[in-house]
Amino acid sequence: MSDELLDSLKNLVGKNGYLEAGDVGERYYTDPRGTGDVQPAFVLRPSTAGELSDIMKLCHAAAQPVVAQGGMTGLVGGGKPLGDEIPISFERMNRIEELDTKTNTMTVQCGTPLQTIQDHADQHDLLFPLDLGSRGSCTIGGNLSTNAGGNRVIRYGMARDLVLGVEAVLSDGTIVSSMNKFVKNNAGYDLKQLFIGSEGTLGLITRATLRLHRKPRSQIVGFCAAPGFDAVVDFMHHMQSAMGGNLSAFEVMWTSVYHAIIDAVPTVKAPLSRDYPFYILVEVMGGRPEHDQHVFETTLNEALETGLIVDAIISKSQSDVDDFWRVRDSMAEAMSKQHSPVGFDISLSIGDMEVFAAEIDKRLAASCNGVRHFIGGHLGDGNLHLVVAAGESDPPPREQIESLVYGLTGELKGSISAEHGIGMMKRSHLHQSRNPAELALMRTLKNSLDPKCLLNPGRIFEMPGTNATDSTHSSELL
Ligand code: ZN
Repeated sequence: MSDELLDSLKNLVGKNGYLEAGDVGERYYTDPRGTGDVQPAFVLRPSTAGELSDIMKLCHAAAQPVVAQGGMTGLVGGGKPLGDEIPISFERMNRIEELDTKTNTMTVQCGTPLQTIQDHADQHDLLFPLDLGSRGSCTIGGNLSTNAGGNRVIRYGMARDLVLGVEAVLSDGTIVSSMNKFVKNNAGYDLKQLFIGSEGTLGLITRATLRLHRKPRSQIVGFCAAPGFDAVVDFMHHMQSAMGGNLSAFEVMWTSVYHAIIDAVPTVKAPLSRDYPFYILVEVMGGRPEHDQHVFETTLNEALETGLIVDAIISKSQSDVDDFWRVRDSMAEAMSKQHSPVGFDISLSIGDMEVFAAEIDKRLAASCNGVRHFIGGHLGDGNLHLVVAAGESDPPPREQIESLVYGLTGELKGSISAEHGIGMMKRSHLHQSRNPAELALMRTLKNSLDPKCLLNPGRIFEMPGTNATDSTHSSELL
């Protein structure tokens, strides 16, 4: 970066609007996978979309690349700076601007933490249902730009489904504001969708109007065991038929994951014995607590009588609800305690999941000496989290495990990224989930919105002939 650009940027944002040299802490180049190789010398911290727009005008004129940073909780290395990119941290754009109880919407700035939004909705008897483990530190801008998923997608959809309006800044500084508060808007292209899930490569989201739901009055959780995978699927359909739209989570753990959680996380109380092949956390949220509890118990009893499940325990209090969820939420911690874990976040059609589990078992046993694997995830959404960990002996090369898992995912026409995105870490496998015409269209969009390749360059895919060809492969994926 030239001294001239640096001076112009500093003058533009003022002394609260940037950090330099020793003031740039590790958090501007560290994510859950570790600390990056590039320690930035300069970080921008705009306070408004107008300021960001002016920043991008200067960067555009100087062909200066930038990388957007929210809570730095992403799992695919998208936020860590590369080369001479300037990090743009949204930590100062963290205000809730409005909660509108007539339209059930909340207008927020992009750097607002997810949990702040959830809590604010809750105080008004409303629900912002997007929920994931990093809720305390991830920000809504990151959630939207990665189209985050999480635990309640089965009922409320992904981040994309919870947004009515978005404001974004393009690479040349243009502000595109589509901040409507209504659901239906077919007046031409739905432009906000360009920015949702595109990982900051097409524009930087600065504000959003979020869609809130009424807060349910009941929350009941069952922790169940099923005798086989077919029974798990039949049980899900049984619950969907009986509970309708009230079904709010259907999370499955293969027995190896359940054992790993119980063994590795001391704060977890085992709700059921260790003897079953599958464990399921099923949740309903409704409007009539006593009635909902009765229907839920009756429905689980039917499932027990017909053999879809072989054991079950139902929450009777909020502390039961918390205890059961703690089992599922401890999966990440249990996996992190395995030996050299390599994690995957894949989507498959439910009909292919059992084939996948059996086949991956066979292929790993054949070519990766002594590894263990663990599967769990959001079954209702077709999303599995697979972790492959080393056994007693040295771990096989990570690339070997990735090729095997992504190869099988591709053969089954699944997705190599269900909810974590592509970032830097999965881009070499993107072709296993996307065909050449799809990839070409993605590049056409990138090229038309960001022809100089200044916004999060190299994330998702490389753009030949630009500076976005760094092949950094980050440390660990879980
Ligand atoms: Zn997940």
